[in-house]
Amino acid sequence: MITASKTVSVQSEPARTQIEVRGVDKVFATGGHDVVALQGIDLTIRKGEFVCLLGPSGCGKSTLLNAVAGFQPPSRGVILVDGQPVLIPGPDRGMVFQEYALFPWMTVAENIGFGLQIKRMSQTEIRERVETLLVKLHLQDFRNRYPKDLSGGMRQRVAIARVLALDSPILLMDEPFGALDALTRRTLQDELLRIWEEVGKTVLFVTHSIEESIYLADRVVVMTYRPGTIKRDVRVEMPRPRDGASAEFNRLKRDLAQLVMEEQQRFSQDEIRSVTAD
Ligand code: ADP
Ligand code: MG
Repeated sequence: MITASKTVSVQSEPARTQIEVRGVDKVFATGGHDVVALQGIDLTIRKGEFVCLLGPSGCGKSTLLNAVAGFQPPSRGVILVDGQPVLIPGPDRGMVFQEYALFPWMTVAENIGFGLQIKRMSQTEIRERVETLLVKLHLQDFRNRYPKDLSGGMRQRVAIARVLALDSPILLMDEPFGALDALTRRTLQDELLRIWEEVGKTVLFVTHSIEESIYLADRVVVMTYRPGTIKRDVRVEMPRPRDGASAEFNRLKRDLAQLVMEEQQRFSQDEIRSVTAD
């Protein structure tokens, strides 16, 4: 795809590197054998970029995201955020999980403000910030509800608002919309894009949905299955909102489906092997 320097002339300054993954391996020792979850991962993400990690189950997407988050150190290699090695989780990286990890005993507003209480921000400031986020994520009418009274989509909105409250420059999202129905998913994708464009965060978003990756990302990074490596790094140039029915969208969908299918097949063969070995 010949698309280089298309936007460079209109940018006042070239976006700087924010996340750099260099030569990262991750090996898990389980039940007497090693699982090479990641091998030789090199990935550079610029400030403000929206990057999707795409691949079938088991190809190391979460492992890579967790390493960037600082939850699981790599076995080899280094991860830099703003030039500093990642050693532990930090306030510069906010994580949104597939399972909306909300506190059931707190209301929506309390959940959103929780991280700010920990930071010992003033009560006035917390109220203001929570209020802004309630509006931004269309949660105003639910501020005093508890998570158990909310739909999956609403709960995920609260989880996103809670991470946005911390104002981390980097959002790490692990299949955040995976459990939602198609309509709710699209609404939240649009809201995420709107917020991303508004506040200019860097987003690293894990998904196994090809369509979701094309709809959202500036770049789709396709991973291989065991060992997890980077198979292809594809730039998506279509203007947003992207039309899933357009020829360009569908051409890219076909290309990515081919790449993902090859890995899916390796995953299936692995499963068959493990079953017949028992
Ligand atoms: P994905 O998110 O792409 O589905 P994961 O990153 O969760 O993949 O897993 C990649 C590989 O590493 C899988 O084969 C998985 O079984 C293995 N794995 C992940 N976490 C652990 C762990 N804590 N211990 C052992 N193996 C793990
Ligand atoms: Mg995963």
